[in-house]
Amino acid sequence: MTVTVAVTGATGRMGEEVLAAAADRDDVAVAFAVSRSPGAEVEGVAVEDAADLSDLLAEHDPDVLVDFTGPASCVEYAAACADAGVAFVSGTTGLNQGGFDALREAAGEVPVLYASNFSRGIAALRRAVREAVPALDGYDIELTETHHNAKRDAPSGTALTLLDDIDEVRGDSPRVHGREGEAPRSEGEVGVHARRAGDIAGEHEVLLAGNHESLSLTHRAGSRGVFAAGALDAATWLSGRDAGWYDFTEVLE
Ligand code: NAD
Repeated sequence: MTVTVAVTGATGRMGEEVLAAAADRDDVAVAFAVSRSPGAEVEGVAVEDAADLSDLLAEHDPDVLVDFTGPASCVEYAAACADAGVAFVSGTTGLNQGGFDALREAAGEVPVLYASNFSRGIAALRRAVREAVPALDGYDIELTETHHNAKRDAPSGTALTLLDDIDEVRGDSPRVHGREGEAPRSEGEVGVHARRAGDIAGEHEVLLAGNHESLSLTHRAGSRGVFAAGALDAATWLSGRDAGWYDFTEVLE
């Protein structure tokens, strides 16, 4: 069965990757693509004006919309999908609590799948972290993420997800974002470091150290294609499901 998808942020890094990945798959067809800077053609798809999204949803009636844009547009597009009865997949990061509340509201009307990271490797890293942290009780934890120089939000959405995973198994830990000057480590804190350089697609390292040993759990995305593939896997999985809030781990299971 072919699932029809609409793609937002089509001229962005991830939007282009999603369109490229869709072009390589038989189980996905692109209904339309939008950007706030329309006019271009990406992977043979004419990019239309994001301001016309509601009309385009009504006209094409896609099964799923795939969104990698910014926090404000993510919320706006989720509401448009809720109105149009279109399932919503988003990997946009930098949302605040109000943004997540708005996505959950949309999930009352249509299926919504949000993931701060659509790679299988990160899903495995999360499981490894949830296992390692309780096994290494009392060890210091430092989290470092590295991304390309145009990334807007810091720390990354994936880093925040990993921090939540750590809190889940160890209880809430104070987060210290970078250190400067007289800044000794206090017991139980988690150091968080965000590096921005070049065109790095995404790296995350969770370092646990204590008792004369250290364990480093690291994931590196070699290309954004891995996130695009995961998002399209999520879209095909989500299509036709009941309204509700879904997690990428359900897709992988
Ligand atoms: P990008 O800057 O290259 O592209 C973003 C696109 O969204 C652009 O086309 C931009 O015009 C559009 N956009 C931004 N704000 C908008 C608004 N208010 N209205 C309309 N359009 C808007 O960024 P990117 O590297 O493609 O990343 C996009 C998002 O996806 C970021 O939040 C990033 O962190 C996230 N991301 C998530 C994953 C994941 O696996 N979940 C992977 C990579 C990137």
